[in-house]
Amino acid sequence: MTVAVVLDGVSCVFGSGAQTVRAVDRVDLKIEGGEFFTLLGPSGSGKTTCLRMIGGFTLPTSGRIHIGGQDVTLAPPYARPVNTVFQDYALFPHMSIRDNVAYGLMVQKVARAERHRRAEEMLELVRLPGVGERRPGQLSGGQRQRVALARALINQPQVLLLDEPLGALDLKLREQMQTELKALQRQLGITFLFITHDQHEALSMSDRIGVFNNGRLEQVDAPTAIYNRPATRFVAEFVGAANVFDGDRALSLTGLPSAMLRPERIRLLPDGEGQIRATVTDTQYFGAFSRVHLDWQGAAIAVDLNPEQHPQLPLRGSTVGLRWADDAVHPLAGAGA
Ligand code: ADP
Ligand code: MG
Repeated sequence: MTVAVVLDGVSCVFGSGAQTVRAVDRVDLKIEGGEFFTLLGPSGSGKTTCLRMIGGFTLPTSGRIHIGGQDVTLAPPYARPVNTVFQDYALFPHMSIRDNVAYGLMVQKVARAERHRRAEEMLELVRLPGVGERRPGQLSGGQRQRVALARALINQPQVLLLDEPLGALDLKLREQMQTELKALQRQLGITFLFITHDQHEALSMSDRIGVFNNGRLEQVDAPTAIYNRPATRFVAEFVGAANVFDGDRALSLTGLPSAMLRPERIRLLPDGEGQIRATVTDTQYFGAFSRVHLDWQGAAIAVDLNPEQHPQLPLRGSTVGLRWADDAVHPLAGAGA
């Protein structure tokens, strides 16, 4: 497998003096050819800036960027073998769908008939055949998203950059597009660099995830490793629900200075058996599972219950026992970071 994208000590600093923002801070990253790689992080953590530097829209303050083995650090966007799908789609409203999709070919002065043929091919690829004559305003949000995708793919980029492309869609459509995007990526074998702040989206779509916090990559790993073996407290709490314990509580509960326990790894025993006894402070029904919030010596603990095993939720104020297996406890580094 060839390496598609390399970031080597890449930083991006905006402004100067007291206004300085270190949007991306010494990021090292290697993305493999054909990989579905996701940058996951909260708003303002530096994801878009990172993607814009790869696309050539923002120049790094320091560091080097390689795409397909070429140093493109200072190359303009059009000279890079990448294309971008923006969150707001950025379609040209006055142009037909066909001309929108074929735009990249027009810039390259490809002949009109050939442009139309390839645009139609792309529209079929994203399952929108026959809409070429319409304008963007005559399509739904999900359809416009597909058009943006077709437009970005028509130049056959080595790497497709996608900045929160599904953010504007409602949940049902977003889930459908997640499946379609993933299938398309598999079919085309193009490297996808995908941005989201949605942990579910990242976990379910990616080969690997890079978790961004404050301009830094906190962890780069496969989804299962990110979820089960988070490298830092930030990753543990950002990806999924986590019970994180520090200091004396962590020591007495787990024997570790800092540790994480996922809510679904804890068993609730109504008869009060188990490692500890805790008091129920609240319950939440989510359909597929229920979350019980408990208090243990001033510390909040969440436990997720399978409704089949617990058709009735424990009463608020009742005392229950909690039990977990040794391997449910994950040690955390960087506590408080
Ligand atoms: P994300 O995409 O993760 O939400 P961004 O990369 O957009 O984060 O932003 C990272 C940080 O850089 C934020 O603090 C943001 O305000 C700042 N920033 C982004 N673009 C600019 C810019 N052009 N000028 C000044 N600050 C910027
Ligand atoms: Mg962004």
